[in-house]
Amino acid sequence: MRLQYVCVSCRQPNKYTPVAATRGDLQMKVGDEVQVSCKRCKEEQKVHLNKISAAVNNKWIVISFFISLIISLILWILFAGIWLIIAIPIPMILWAAENNAVRNFNRYRIRKK
Ligand SMILES: [Zn+2]
Repeated sequence: MRLQYVCVSCRQPNKYTPVAATRGDLQMKVGDEVQVSCKRCKEEQKVHLNKISAAVNNKWIVISFFISLIISLILWILFAGIWLIIAIPIPMILWAAENNAVRNFNRYRIRKK
């Protein structure tokens, strides 16, 4: 999972760190608003936590897909084709977990004061 916000002046999505499991956790870490500067236009801005949204980090899913592909291949060479069934669901499980984490984060909104 990764966090992002959209820049108010250039409308470009920016990555946000630190990453927390929920918006509530993030609020405890950084407060209601965060001071950020856009990577593209360098505009300094305050972003309310509700404007920060979570998205699936495809990088890890792609990496896990290749890792499981390699594991499958090794197992397939060493043993029999049946091992393929064990390694292939790994990226799927990861993808489902990622989606779950993203949904969890985006569902909860902090109350505006
Ligand atoms: Zn910008």
